[in-house]
Amino acid sequence: MPIDPTLEYDDQNIFAKILRGEIPCSKVFEDQWALAFHDINPQAPAHVLVIPKGAYVSWDDFSAKGGDAEIAGFVRAVGHVSRELGLVEPGYRLLANIGMDSHQEVPHLHVHIFGGKPLGPMLMR
Ligand code: 5GP
Repeated sequence: MPIDPTLEYDDQNIFAKILRGEIPCSKVFEDQWALAFHDINPQAPAHVLVIPKGAYVSWDDFSAKGGDAEIAGFVRAVGHVSRELGLVEPGYRLLANIGMDSHQEVPHLHVHIFGGKPLGPMLMR
């Protein structure tokens, strides 16, 4: 079920539990601002999720309420992980689903990194 991104942050969401270490993840990268881990249901040979450590529901929430340092730290983490995965030269896709129309399922901001094969044009159906 898609989530309503206008609701208050729910600290029982699955990524909050991963951040607290209550649920395991296959970690790719971590620093003070962000955690990156492999998606449990990969849609491409490389499919990594990058999440900020702060409690933000969506990109909208983060960009409105996040501090400059944590926003910079998160954006740098996405770039760092993409480089570390070796995706710059072949190319890759970033995706952040926000809210109902995009079918966001986890109410903690996450950026998907997809790569490892030609991804084709982005299709809207
Ligand atoms: P969304 O549709 O919200 O943009 O994407 C949520 C993503 O989180 C999905 O790609 C889904 O496979 C992934 N996911 C959901 N639960 C877990 C989990 O417990 N562990 C990991 N690693 N990924 C998860």
